[in-house]
Amino acid sequence: MKKITFFIATLLFTSSIYAQMKPESTEWHYPKPEKVTPATVNGNAPSDAIILFDGKDLSKWASAKGGDAPWKVVNGEMTVVPGTGDICTREFFGDCQLHIEFKSPAPENHSGQNRGNSGVFLQSTYEVQVLDADNNETYVNGMVGSIYKQKAPSVNAYTKNGEWQVYDIYWKAPVFGTDGELESPAMITVVLNGILVQNNFILKGDTPYIGFPKYTPHGRLPLKLQDHGTGVAFRNIWIRNL
Ligand code: MG
Repeated sequence: MKKITFFIATLLFTSSIYAQMKPESTEWHYPKPEKVTPATVNGNAPSDAIILFDGKDLSKWASAKGGDAPWKVVNGEMTVVPGTGDICTREFFGDCQLHIEFKSPAPENHSGQNRGNSGVFLQSTYEVQVLDADNNETYVNGMVGSIYKQKAPSVNAYTKNGEWQVYDIYWKAPVFGTDGELESPAMITVVLNGILVQNNFILKGDTPYIGFPKYTPHGRLPLKLQDHGTGVAFRNIWIRNL
C-alpha cells in the first residue's frame, strides 16, 4: 500500500512539474558554438584548424632527436627519409581531431611490417599504425588502422598501394592526477578513408613493440610521425584542439 501511495505521489509530482514546463525549458542558447568553415574535398582544412603541413615546408616539425625535421618535401608531399628518425610537431597537443593523408611507397621486396610502415603517434606515445595493406599479410593488431599491438581495426579500409589514404582521428588524452595516478585512460576513434575502424577504443597504455602497454604520466606532448625505414609520404595534415 505504501509503495503504491509513493508511486502515485511521484507520478503526480512529476506530472505537475511537466505541466509547468514549456518547450523552451529544455532549449539551450549558450554557449553558442563558434562558426567554423568545413574542410573541402580539394584539401582545404576547416577554418579553425592548425595546419601542420600544407605541402610547402616542415616549419611546424622538428627531428625527434632535436634540430630541424630531416624528411624531404617534394611536389607538395613530405616523405620519410629512411634512417633519419622520427619527426615531431613543435607544438604540443592534448585532446584533438587530426586529419592526415599518407601513401605507401612501391612494395619492392618488402612484406609484412616492412612494407610502407610508419605511424601516427598521438602525444608521441600512442601509435595508430600506418602500413601498406594491399595484399600484405601481417598480425592484425599491427595492420593499418590498428592501435599498435592493442586493437585490430574492425575492417580493412585500405585501398591500393600507391593511392592516398585518409585518416581522421579523434583523440581523448589520458588524464593523470597530481600524484601521477591514471584518472581516465585515453580513448580513440579512427576513420580510414571514410570508414570507421576504431570506435571509442579505450587504450590500455602506450604501444610498445615488445611487452605490454602501460601508462606513464604526461601532459600535452607533440604529435610524432615514425621513420620505420620506408619512404612513406604524407600530405594535408591538420589538427584541431578540442
Ligand atoms: Mg609503425
